Amino acid sequence: MTTIKLVSDGVFPILRNGSGTHFPVVPQTGLAIPGTIQGEGKLAGIPVLFIRTAGCNLRCSWTLPDGTSSICDTPLSSFDTRGSIEVDVNALVETILLNRGNIEHLVISGGEPMVQPAALGTLLKSLKEAYPFHIQIETNGTIFKEELAEYIDFFSISPKLSSSTPQTKAGPFNLSANARLLHEARRKRIDVLQAFIDHARRYSHKDFQLKWVYSKHSDIDEINAINQELEHVAPSDNLLMPLGANAGEVALTEQECLVACIQQGWRFSPRYHISLFGDKHGV
Ligand code: SF4
Repeated sequence: MTTIKLVSDGVFPILRNGSGTHFPVVPQTGLAIPGTIQGEGKLAGIPVLFIRTAGCNLRCSWTLPDGTSSICDTPLSSFDTRGSIEVDVNALVETILLNRGNIEHLVISGGEPMVQPAALGTLLKSLKEAYPFHIQIETNGTIFKEELAEYIDFFSISPKLSSSTPQTKAGPFNLSANARLLHEARRKRIDVLQAFIDHARRYSHKDFQLKWVYSKHSDIDEINAINQELEHVAPSDNLLMPLGANAGEVALTEQECLVACIQQGWRFSPRYHISLFGDKHGV
């Protein structure tokens, strides 16, 4: 039996488990149906089911323009994974099939899904064998495995800029100097980004995006510098997304983010899940 580590509500939004047992409450979306939409990036608006893995090799925390910190919006998949669960891959695939309705797209997010390569490989293979899903992975772009990429149709890569490096205190979490150094050492991997891009460019049915979190003006220079080191990236493959885990935080950088997109020829990424469902998890 192969298992994969997920956050406690790691498949969402769903109405029944892999045995067919109905849950007594509606999903966090408030909709009495399984499924949601992708809220961000090129595929925003597409009906999807999410799988959220637990564990991440980074620890992101930004500073908002008002001086407060905004940490990773899925901290239970990165900063504190004590509530995570080991899920049998076969049961997970059954759960997806029983809840999919007319949904053709799956999003595998985290955390960083690539930190569990063997389990992720088994899951991807099993999902593709069960149904010809369009599979999107949300990754921080620090780990690439060709044998996993083979099963993935869309790479949503969110490389982390220097503005993501945490201070000693990140939200409610205290971070050691070592954790901060590890984040800084791991976050930027041009070779890995290029491997994702080259893989996606090799297949006509695949695509990718570079989804950047915008927190301050100097981010723009860093993004341009990284683009100069990469090949085969069009301006429209860059998506800029305002920082924030809720509408109030997003509002602090939204206008600057819009201006930067127009000036640079990049795409602005909506965050529909926040505008539709607020800052709830599992939506
Ligand atoms: S890479 Fe993503 S999941 Fe990991 S800490 Fe940063 S924002 Fe959170």
